[in-house]
Amino acid sequence: MKIAILGAMPEEISPLLEKLQNYEKINYANNSYYLAQYKKHELILAYSKIGKVNSTLSASIMIEKFKAETLLFTGVAGAFNPNLKIGDLLVANKLCQYDLDITAFGHPLGFVPGNEVFVKTDEKLNALAKEVANELGVKLHEGIIATGDEFICDEVKKSKIREVFNADACEMEGASVALVCEALKVPCFILRAMSDEAGEKAEFDFDEFVVKSAQTSAEFVLKICDKL
Ligand code: SAH
Repeated sequence: MKIAILGAMPEEISPLLEKLQNYEKINYANNSYYLAQYKKHELILAYSKIGKVNSTLSASIMIEKFKAETLLFTGVAGAFNPNLKIGDLLVANKLCQYDLDITAFGHPLGFVPGNEVFVKTDEKLNALAKEVANELGVKLHEGIIATGDEFICDEVKKSKIREVFNADACEMEGASVALVCEALKVPCFILRAMSDEAGEKAEFDFDEFVVKSAQTSAEFVLKICDKL
């Protein structure tokens, strides 16, 4: 199967490139895409660069140009749910864009006509992830991710987003990637390991834990490939 593995930052994809070692690098649309063979699968890997627009572009290219048949996102996120600790894994069953705001016209936050507030991920991939977690003896949380073009490091912003969307974590790419996959009918899986708690010290926690958490997530995604 041709599987896309997408992250946002180098830290999220380099653990996989180091493990694969043999890969072809293709420069396209101001970014790099990496083709590699992994067991019976062809992989296409990339880090999109941060944010919803960059991740939309990369996800679209992986599917339309490189013909990925399924897409697995790996990366880090800020925890909202107090049950999620730094390093914990969260699989998103649905995601929203918390900063998509035409509430001035009476619409709910995150809603634009023609779309829903939430976009779902693939249930089969999420179930497969649970199997992998059980086999590894790893705790895997499942929940809602709120995506927006801001690094959240503020208790007030965090509480507001959590309240409106019942979100368990926040990040800057998931909802846009899931939206691309839904539109192009490609199964989508979004996994995040917590790098911080999106509060006042989030930028310091992020710097301390990004590498370790990104690696945890990347390793888990490769285990999913083993099962596909
Ligand atoms: N330190 C980086 C910027 C990181 S932005 C630099 O200087 O280049 C945060 C990245 O991690 C985004 O890709 C986002 O998806 C994720 N993330 C982790 N914690 C987050 C938080 N609290 N709020 C928003 N995004 C977060």
